[in-house]
Amino acid sequence: MKSKIFWSCLLSTLTLFNTSKILAQTLPLSPQLIPFSSNEGEQLLVESNAKQDYFLLSNQFVTQINQAYCGVASSVMVLNALGLPAPESTQYKPFRVFTQENFFERAETKKVISPELVSRRGMTLAQLGDLLSSHGAKVEVYYGSDVNLERFRSLLVQNLSKRDNFAIVNYLRKTIGQERGGHISPIAAYNQRTDRFLILDVSRYKYPPVWVKTVDLWQAIATVDTDAGKTRGFVLVTN
Ligand code: CA
Repeated sequence: MKSKIFWSCLLSTLTLFNTSKILAQTLPLSPQLIPFSSNEGEQLLVESNAKQDYFLLSNQFVTQINQAYCGVASSVMVLNALGLPAPESTQYKPFRVFTQENFFERAETKKVISPELVSRRGMTLAQLGDLLSSHGAKVEVYYGSDVNLERFRSLLVQNLSKRDNFAIVNYLRKTIGQERGGHISPIAAYNQRTDRFLILDVSRYKYPPVWVKTVDLWQAIATVDTDAGKTRGFVLVTN
């Protein structure tokens, strides 16, 4: 991700501007994805045997506040869903809640990477893990290169069946039929009949939540993030 995310986002934006009018809708979805808000998408959640995280995450679902903040938005959702001690929020004083504005307030967090740099270049999978750890979460980082399809499915399904932990994926959009660079978002549920995961995509101005085939998502996390010199992957987070 990082700079590639930024440029791909910029490219999509420019494409929108160039194709006549400015659109207030999300981009069209590839047939390989099932939109969550469709009848079929709804049915997949109803049938799901691994959807514990859906309810907690949907309570915290936010839109990333800039085009490189997918990792920050995903982290804020998970930290709030876990109920970890949050800093006071300037906006919502005296309430304490993780927001994308106060996420970098702690010195330990800024030490991992500065908000300015994340705003320009995004973050790598390792930085995502370290940023979450800096807020007191326990994090396991898995690189796509180290996890076969069966293990990928089983680790995520196991996690989605329990309420006290969460999964965030770092994947290449292009591999799942989207525009187009690296991206980060939480996973909320698994449908066993169709072998699909539900991504709660934090770039809500660009794409809605979608059900993606496990094999497609697995291939998308096994792509190389050239900024990191490693593959993308996922993190499992608990408190
Ligand atoms: Ca879970």
